[in-house]
Amino acid sequence: MLLHKIVEVREKINEWKKQGLTVGLVPTMGALHNGHLSLIKKSVEKCDRTVVSVFINPIQFCPGEDLDKYPRTLDADEKLCNDAGVDIIFAPSPKEMYGEGHILSNDFLTYVIPPFFYTNKLCGKSRVGHFDGVCTVVNKLFNIVQPDFAFFGEKDRQQLIILKKMVKDLNIPVEIIPCPIVREESGLALSSRNKYLSSKDREDALALSKILFNIKACYKKGMKDPQILAETVYSFLNENHSLEYLEFRDGDDLEEKKVADDNTIVFIALKIGDVRLIDNVSLK
Ligand code: AMP
Repeated sequence: MLLHKIVEVREKINEWKKQGLTVGLVPTMGALHNGHLSLIKKSVEKCDRTVVSVFINPIQFCPGEDLDKYPRTLDADEKLCNDAGVDIIFAPSPKEMYGEGHILSNDFLTYVIPPFFYTNKLCGKSRVGHFDGVCTVVNKLFNIVQPDFAFFGEKDRQQLIILKKMVKDLNIPVEIIPCPIVREESGLALSSRNKYLSSKDREDALALSKILFNIKACYKKGMKDPQILAETVYSFLNENHSLEYLEFRDGDDLEEKKVADDNTIVFIALKIGDVRLIDNVSLK
């Protein structure tokens, strides 16, 4: 069932809660692919009812980012969700979520601001305010849907870590279920933004997973020094690449790792032409 209004969702949720049913939420920005589908399947399996939100959240985009050109494929998304056994596809308009507030100015909205220590690094460095927008919208979705479980992909690992922190710090009664990264056979992590890649860029995009898997292989052979491990990156880059970051950080609190260990996540952001992609791998 495709719903656009918050009151309609609340009505359904209240009905389910009265019946004692558990609710799973899968927040997305649409243009659904098999990565999203893996989260959806987990929710359908684990919960009595599943809500998938499809909302391109304007307040998590920075000026100059791809808000206007972000792929919008609601009809296909709806079909995929129906086939997967989703009970509600919630696709609100920006006005439904924020009123006119965000269009006037951010000064007219209440925000949820995650800790600076978690947002002043990795994607937060170049995407200032991005995680404020993410935490705000996820908080709103939690309040609207009141899920027992919420499913997030490890593909966006910094986001996942920040949302776990938010849930803990604000005592939000939801359990976050992390879901592994789904990749193409080539190793490329599935992403709605892969749609921006030309066929040449697609080849160049394989560098992300190659770099990460190579670092993991070196770690498994006994190399523990992040600086030395990071130097391997350059043999995978060409003139179409621009490396934004390659960092070794703790999987729980994003602290920088001086020595790599099994709780280390290697994070990468790489531009291929104009397209910015992210990926990460656990060294465990
Ligand atoms: P998005 O629509 O990009 O905001 O993503 C919605 C959710 O799907 C987030 O929790 C993402 O981490 C997750 N996701 C996106 N791509 C993948 C992937 N390749 N594997 C696993 N989860 C993913």
